[in-house]
Amino acid sequence: HAKEQGRSNYEFFDSPLERLAHFQLELENKLRQAIANQELTVFYQPQVETQGQTIKRMEALLRWFPVTGSAISPADFVPVAERAGLISDVGLMVLEKVCETIVKWRQLGAGDFCISVNLSAQQIAEGNLVEHIERLLSQYNISGQYLEVEITESILMENLENVTAVLNQIRELGITVAIDDFGTGYSSLKYLQKLPIDILKIDRSFINNVLEDKNKQSIVNAIVLLGHGLKLQLVAEGAEDKPTVDFLTELGCEFIQGFYFYKPMPAQEIERILFKPE
Ligand code: C2E
Ligand code: MG
Ligand code: MG
Ligand code: MG
Repeated sequence: HAKEQGRSNYEFFDSPLERLAHFQLELENKLRQAIANQELTVFYQPQVETQGQTIKRMEALLRWFPVTGSAISPADFVPVAERAGLISDVGLMVLEKVCETIVKWRQLGAGDFCISVNLSAQQIAEGNLVEHIERLLSQYNISGQYLEVEITESILMENLENVTAVLNQIRELGITVAIDDFGTGYSSLKYLQKLPIDILKIDRSFINNVLEDKNKQSIVNAIVLLGHGLKLQLVAEGAEDKPTVDFLTELGCEFIQGFYFYKPMPAQEIERILFKPE
């Protein structure tokens, strides 16, 4: 044991970094088991249309409910999955679950709708993402219009050329592309005008307390103008109250995804909203 090997060793072992590394490794091992045990599921959070309040769009969000213990947030385990090289498999599982859901909802009689899926840098870098998606679409016999992918600005800027090529192929399948957490990354306006994208998702940090902060209001206003100028649609993330919803509606944001309307929920709960008997 490190403790018996003398003081300097002990301090090394017990440093915050060491403890973090240990914690990460433990989480990684738990995650591997969770994947094998199918403890990961997908929830859906509606994006409500500001004009008309209809629900035609939702985001697929990973959930981990361990057999024992409480839920673990994707904000905590997705980075672990990325570091451990597990995110491509997990991401494929998400895509497949979403395809299953699309089939089910179509069978239940849903009209037009679209489910967006978060992509990690690794999935795009691996080179077979588009093949995987094509295979799933044909296997489940669904058209790309039911799917959307979300990528962050940092993914874009990491490898602009390759990401642009992949996004172009994805869009050729009829799938729309959204930039997630817009405003927090490093995308330059120079590239934004050329990128194959359809939607800007305004990051939650700008929406949170926006009515108490003139600077945030200016930023949100500018993003909406920029997006519309580029013929993109806007999704605002994280609206938690009516005044914020009214502000975003006034600005002309097309969609709002926030706890004010809905939290992420299991597919069956969405079905109760989408297919409620009149
Ligand atoms: P994200 O893609 O930006 O997803 C939006 C996050 O904001 C979700 O957190 C959602 O629950 C939360 N949110 C939405 N409205 C509100 C609100 O009004 N208030 C508050 N406080 N939060 C709100 P979640 O589900 O915990 O996911 C966190 C992040 O984990 C996601 O951020 C995404 O980066 C990542 N993630 C989730 N699922 C996947 C996945 O399937 N693949 C990958 N690669 N990443 C994922
Ligand atoms: Mg997202
Ligand atoms: Mg986001
Ligand atoms: Mg995010």
